[in-house]
Amino acid sequence: MKITEIVAQPHTLTVDPSIAIRSSLGFHRVSRYVLVTVRTDAGVEGYGEATVMPVWSGETQESALAAIRTILAPALVGADARDLTAAIATMDRILYQNWFAKAAVEMALCDAVARSLGVGVWQLFGGRRREPGIWLKMSIGAFSPEDAARIALYAKAAGLRSCKVKVGTGVAADLARVAAVRDAVGPDFRVGVDANGGWCEAECVAALAGLEKLGVNMIEQPLPRGGGEFRACARIRRRTSIPLMLDESIFSIEEALEAIRADACDIISIYPGKNGGMHRSVQIAKMAEAAGLECVIGSNLEWDLASSAMLQVAVSIPNLSERVDHDIIGAFYHQQPVTEPGLRVESGRAWLPEGPGLGLKLKALA
Ligand SMILES: [Mg+2]
Repeated sequence: MKITEIVAQPHTLTVDPSIAIRSSLGFHRVSRYVLVTVRTDAGVEGYGEATVMPVWSGETQESALAAIRTILAPALVGADARDLTAAIATMDRILYQNWFAKAAVEMALCDAVARSLGVGVWQLFGGRRREPGIWLKMSIGAFSPEDAARIALYAKAAGLRSCKVKVGTGVAADLARVAAVRDAVGPDFRVGVDANGGWCEAECVAALAGLEKLGVNMIEQPLPRGGGEFRACARIRRRTSIPLMLDESIFSIEEALEAIRADACDIISIYPGKNGGMHRSVQIAKMAEAAGLECVIGSNLEWDLASSAMLQVAVSIPNLSERVDHDIIGAFYHQQPVTEPGLRVESGRAWLPEGPGLGLKLKALA
C-alpha cells in the first residue's frame, strides 16, 4: 500500500472566549493548526492534525506546513504505509524535534493502515484495556478567584468530576484561586493544579501545605522545563503526598527515561502531538509502566482528529491513571467540527470513535 500523496492544509479556529485558557505561558485565544491527508494507491486515505502552538513546542502553523510539505512528505511518498515503524524512523532521521508535525503525519499513516485493515487504530497497539469512555478534567485558567469558580461550576454542570487550576502566577494568588474553586465545587470534586513551569522550587514548596489543605490531587509541571528540574522535582516529591506530574519536561522517550531515573515524578503526561506520534506515546507509557508510574493524557487543545488519536492511546495502555483524569478537552473550546462524525464528548467523558482507523473522516473544508 504505497503512499501516493501527503497533503497539509492550514486550519484556524477561534476558541470560546468565555473559557479560553490563560496559563503562566499566556492566553490561548486562537487555534492555528494544520490538517494532514495521506493518500495511498489502495484508494484508502488517512487523516491527522498538527496541534501547533509556538509557546509550547516552538512550532507554528507555517513551520508545520513547511516541515510536512518540504521535508516529511517528499521522504515518505512512495514508501509502504504499512511499514509504520520505518516511516517513524525516517521522520526522526531527517527532521529534529518538530513533534506535532511528525505526529500529524504518523496519525494519518496509522489511520490509513487501520482503515485498510478495517480495524480501529487501537488494535495496532494490541487492543483495548478499558471501556471506551475516558474521564476528562476541565482546565481552569489563571483568572480571578470569581472567574475561576465560574468555570469550575461550568465544568461541574457539564458532567465532569474534575478540573485542574492554572497556577504559577504568585503563590498567594494561586492559593486564593484554588480555594475559590474548591469552595465552588465542594469536597468531592477532583481539583489539581498546573503551574506550566511558572514556579521556582521555593514557591512550590511554599504552596504545598495550602494545596494539601485544599485537597489538591495532583501538581503538574511545577518548575520550568530545560533539564535541570528533575532533581528539584524529586526533592519536592519527598515533601508532599500529592502526586507530581511532568508535562512540558517530557516530550521524548529520552526525557522520560531521565525523569524516571531521577525519581522526578509520579505521573507522566503523554499525548501523541507532544510525543511525535501515538507510537511514541505508547512507548513512553510502557517505560512508565515498567517504572511503576501512571500516565495521564495531557493536551494542547487538540481538535477532533488529534483527540481521537489521544483516545486510541488512552484505551490501549495499561497504566492510564484512574486517580487523575484526562485533558481530551478540545471539544469544550472549539465549536466547528472538521470531521464526520464529530467527536463525542458527554457525561464528563470523551468517547473513542467507532469505526476503522481514527473513526473520523475529514470533511471538505472551505
Ligand atoms: Mg500541562
